[in-house]
Amino acid sequence: MVIMNPLNSTTIDETVPVLIVGGSLVGLSLSLFLAKQGIKSIVVERHPGTAIHPRVSSLTARTMEIFRSAGVEEEIRHEEPPFPREFGIMFVESLAGEVFENLMEDMSAYFTDASPVEGNGIAQDLLEPVLRMKAEQAGADLQYNTEMIGFEADEHGISATIRDRTNGKTRQIRSEYMVGADGGKSGIRAALGIGQHGEGTLFHLISVIFEADIHDLFKNQNAHMCFFANEDASGSLVLYPGTNRRPHVYRLDVIYDPEEETIDDYPEERCIALVRAAIGIPDIPVKFKKVLTWEMAARVADRFQQDRIFIVGDAARVQPPSGGLGGNTGIAEAHNLAWKLAAVLRGEAGEDLLATYDMERRPIADYTVEQVVMLSQQREHEGTDGITVNTLHVNMGYRYPDGAFIPEGDGQNLPLVQQPESWTGQPGSRAAHVVLERNGQRLSSIDLFGSRFVLLVGSDRKNWVEAAKHVKDTLRFPIDIYQVDGHNADFNNPGNDFLDAYGITSTGAVLVRPDGYIGWRKPGTGENKGEMEKMLTNALSTILFR
Ligand SMILES: Cc1cc2nc3c(=O)[nH]c(=O)nc-3n(C[C@H](O)[C@H](O)[C@H](O)COP(=O)(O)OP(=O)(O)OC[C@H]3O[C@@H](n4cnc5c(N)ncnc54)[C@H](O)[C@@H]3O)c2cc1C
Repeated sequence: MVIMNPLNSTTIDETVPVLIVGGSLVGLSLSLFLAKQGIKSIVVERHPGTAIHPRVSSLTARTMEIFRSAGVEEEIRHEEPPFPREFGIMFVESLAGEVFENLMEDMSAYFTDASPVEGNGIAQDLLEPVLRMKAEQAGADLQYNTEMIGFEADEHGISATIRDRTNGKTRQIRSEYMVGADGGKSGIRAALGIGQHGEGTLFHLISVIFEADIHDLFKNQNAHMCFFANEDASGSLVLYPGTNRRPHVYRLDVIYDPEEETIDDYPEERCIALVRAAIGIPDIPVKFKKVLTWEMAARVADRFQQDRIFIVGDAARVQPPSGGLGGNTGIAEAHNLAWKLAAVLRGEAGEDLLATYDMERRPIADYTVEQVVMLSQQREHEGTDGITVNTLHVNMGYRYPDGAFIPEGDGQNLPLVQQPESWTGQPGSRAAHVVLERNGQRLSSIDLFGSRFVLLVGSDRKNWVEAAKHVKDTLRFPIDIYQVDGHNADFNNPGNDFLDAYGITSTGAVLVRPDGYIGWRKPGTGENKGEMEKMLTNALSTILFR
């Protein structure tokens, strides 16, 4: 039994399948993904509401694919300020001063032909209310001003003590699973005794959030971020574009030494002086909003699961903001975990499926953190020409080395990451985007994935469709079955690229998981219907640990 502060009562006030501790970006995303799968969750968040300051400033194309499948893309686009492709990162004397170098941000993770969607530049303070609304509409129970102050875990579930911060009252919630989306200083990770590895603390930073009339200066620099260095200060400036819900806001970051200074050494006047030095206009009006401290660190948890408890997002992994992948990677973690929890809670999968969350996501977390640290070092020491890190490969082009899929061969010679299109249907990689058409309407193959397993079959369908229907009925397991091209096709593929993109022939079939990753494929077949049924049953049973 794991205990974090013994319970002061044995009375259970509420039960829920999944308790999520932490209702910021990743906890909110997880509650939405679970709700879309029909799984009830309670989210407890100690803050009174969603984020009031921006941190995440952009969502990658892969994250937008995930949000599209969760039915929230349109609302995000509605909130989204424009995100020009050409905006990059500059190294300047000051925002209004000399340009030393164009650091040319690699925007491939945001704009890529591998995806039907584009990334966007929505900031966390604008995104979280959208996620909150959609999660609540879908049935998630989000409780703010509420904190988890202790828990006891046993073999059947978790009893957590929850405190209402408005009146100090406590109650017990009993859940079958608990997820710590409780940030980089995760109390749950600490209580479970899960260690971390990685480079550790890299810098301590002071962040000043402010408003000023400097949007045109950023525009003139063609930048959404600037590193600056002059005799008065050095650091970075970030633009968070505004919408009709709030004006443009900006963040200044400067490094400080916590052994020499604290946040109290940064009163409003000093912060404004630093901002003016960064802008390079001594008397420019600046509206100070807030000063914060944060630690830039690179750490990955040694385990992402202990029995019925999981950690996601910054609780599982913290990384420097270079490349803007921290929140994006956390959302991918939540997405990976959500369908697995749902399948187990619905009784469709064995509990061992849950172990594949750690198996799949931890190697990707290690790789992502390593690459992001390298990116910030390359930027600092070598400039644009020395950058080898490809953020598209890191964020969308990985293949899980092991997990809930059936590998072909021993998989030993496969790279961990590459250009997303190069995977051509390898089990464990993201299923490719190809354009499909039905009744004159175009959509992406990506749009078929989200809630269930999907079997895609080629034009010479043989007996796949009948075999899959039989398996679906026998296993009482929901599978969507689509034939691409040929007689009686569900969809046509105008680009004629489906078979290549999925690595099958016209007699083949490919099984895609609810998160849009390839679970299994049979490139082509001469087998009869009975053998196909057997192959498909075996594939599903293996993937789902049934
Ligand atoms: C300056 C900066 C810029 C960044 N820019 C980007 C970017 O451009 N793109 C990107 O992808 N990422 C970026 N990141 C990273 C990103 O902000 C984080 O990865 C992301 O916010 C992590 O979300 P999370 O939900 O896992 O954790 P957090 O945002 O830390 O949320 C954890 C939540 O848990 C709550 N909590 C903790 N314990 C309890 C408890 N016991 N009971 C109840 N509630 C609890 C906390 O109140 C908190 O709200 C940036 C980070 C920083 C610091």
